[in-house]
Amino acid sequence: MKPINPSAEILVPRVFGRVSNIVCGMSTRRGGVSPDPLGMNMSYSVDDDVANVRQNRAFMFGSIGRRESDIAFAGQCHSATVVIVDHPGMYPECDALVSAAPNVVLAVSVADCSPVLLCDPRRKVVASVHSGWRGTHQRIVANAVRCMEREFGSLPTDLLAYIGPCAGPCCYSVGPEVSSLFDEVVIRRIEEKTNLNLTLENRRQLQSAGLSSGNIEADGRCTICGPELFHSFRRDGRKSGRMLAFIGLTQDGDR
Ligand SMILES: [Zn+2]
Repeated sequence: MKPINPSAEILVPRVFGRVSNIVCGMSTRRGGVSPDPLGMNMSYSVDDDVANVRQNRAFMFGSIGRRESDIAFAGQCHSATVVIVDHPGMYPECDALVSAAPNVVLAVSVADCSPVLLCDPRRKVVASVHSGWRGTHQRIVANAVRCMEREFGSLPTDLLAYIGPCAGPCCYSVGPEVSSLFDEVVIRRIEEKTNLNLTLENRRQLQSAGLSSGNIEADGRCTICGPELFHSFRRDGRKSGRMLAFIGLTQDGDR
């Protein structure tokens, strides 16, 4: 992977390292042409210049030999809906995409919510999942795994998963109406605060769905207290940019 912008930092999941014919990664705040604090902002829906975002996206997708027009996005409405896609474009009213089509790159846009990428290296199927507290509560990652099983014959024990950086249990305070929806083991109480561990809950759901622990990589870093590297809506509010996690299949002979 060769970022065109040398200052751009793109995270590369190790868990998919053994898989051939795949592109995957996650942008960070670092690099990009947008003014501070936006940096490498990937979203047109925040207060950033369209030309900057276009340039940032060109940096990142160029690093994997792709263009913005090759990407499939979910509308991300905090649902538990999974959609199967075989073309790039915007798919509203869903939060997870599944594809077996080569040359479509699935992307999930985040700034604190948990991005989860899945790959079945045997049947050549990939998925991208947006899992904030609502999606996590609705077990969207389990829905994505079930979709891969049902529609593509995937075996959960074959699946590999990456859980990207998101709001961490050190900082992600939630009210009782949210904490009461989750098991105590994913709640951390710090002084007066009740914090949620999104990464741990998504990991537990993936394991309940049949993935083996060794096939799940969790970055584990907290976006809220990692201002140098990560965008965070909780920290920066409306000034926050967005990062993209992405995964796609390539054809033999492509990179
Ligand atoms: Zn933190």
